[in-house]
Amino acid sequence: MPGLATESIPETWPARWWETQPDGKVHCYLCPRHCRIGEGQSGFCFIRRNDGGSLVTLGYGRLAAVNIDPIEKKPLNHFLPGTSILSLGGAGCNMGSMFCQNWSISKAKDDHVRAAVLSPAQVVRTAGQYGCPSLAYTYNEPTIWGEFIIDTARLAREAGLANVMVTNGYITPEALWDVYEHIDAANIDLKAFTDDFYRRVTLSKLDPVLQTIETLCRSGRVWVELTTLLIPNHNDSDEEIRKLSDWVLEHVGPEVPLHFTAYHPDYKLTKDPPTPPATLRRAREIALGRGLHFVYLGNVHDREGSTTWCPGCGAPLIVRDWHSILAARLVDGCCAKCGRRIPGRFPARRH
Ligand code: SF4
Repeated sequence: MPGLATESIPETWPARWWETQPDGKVHCYLCPRHCRIGEGQSGFCFIRRNDGGSLVTLGYGRLAAVNIDPIEKKPLNHFLPGTSILSLGGAGCNMGSMFCQNWSISKAKDDHVRAAVLSPAQVVRTAGQYGCPSLAYTYNEPTIWGEFIIDTARLAREAGLANVMVTNGYITPEALWDVYEHIDAANIDLKAFTDDFYRRVTLSKLDPVLQTIETLCRSGRVWVELTTLLIPNHNDSDEEIRKLSDWVLEHVGPEVPLHFTAYHPDYKLTKDPPTPPATLRRAREIALGRGLHFVYLGNVHDREGSTTWCPGCGAPLIVRDWHSILAARLVDGCCAKCGRRIPGRFPARRH
């Protein structure tokens, strides 16, 4: 974003969520990777470092990307649709996804990709200047710069702004509510439904992600939508999509929106082809057939798969193409035709 002033913030900032081990290393328990970090070394995510026996973060206010996006790009289809969101991203990641679609920043060390240094107050002011009713912590994995998110989100709430996490869900139960206490909505990646995929392709584990999804959805305190990037030959079998849909239905219910998005070859996973539109449509049919009410397609032009349909009467409620809204027939969050309430947060009156 042009014209952003750079603020003076120390390069290192005291980190939270760590303890000293008997061997002198520090144990970071922000995410399930539980790095044990020796003096002068960094954790897996690059941006948390042991400085003289204390854990510091290099990610406080040091941003690799600052943009204004349509909120549909996060993707969120049931949270303030049709609005702009000030989107912030930093460097590093706590997963090792070989197909990462944002790898130029997620695999970077902080000083290689810095676009701006902003204080929480400056972020909130910028959102106000550009008329954005919400902030997104996104692009790379925001969990790893949780200290900055907490300070920014708190101020944003005081200013009447909403806070959105776009996340892989890889956070420990110990840290989860410290961060999510201040968060209004999240899009959580459910990258696949086998632990084998998570271990082999993302160097992480499936179970902690499922735990995060369940905890946030069941709390009722954070609006949650899920995203699965379908990668040909890796996570796109009918059986896996059926199992994933069944888990969503059984554990968090039919009203949680699920987005299937198209993959393009990137980073280290370049041999598989882009996701064919037919694969996305098949996945959507399976998920709807298992009983989910709101299943969307992303990264493709597919009007039917991008539209919010009323589960009560079948009327098209928010007609979309890619990230654009073409028509809206919701009144106070309800279907204009049959009155069925649509879950999420919608602007009052006709949207
Ligand atoms: S947040 Fe970073 S340093 Fe901490 S456990 Fe996760 S990967 Fe390791």
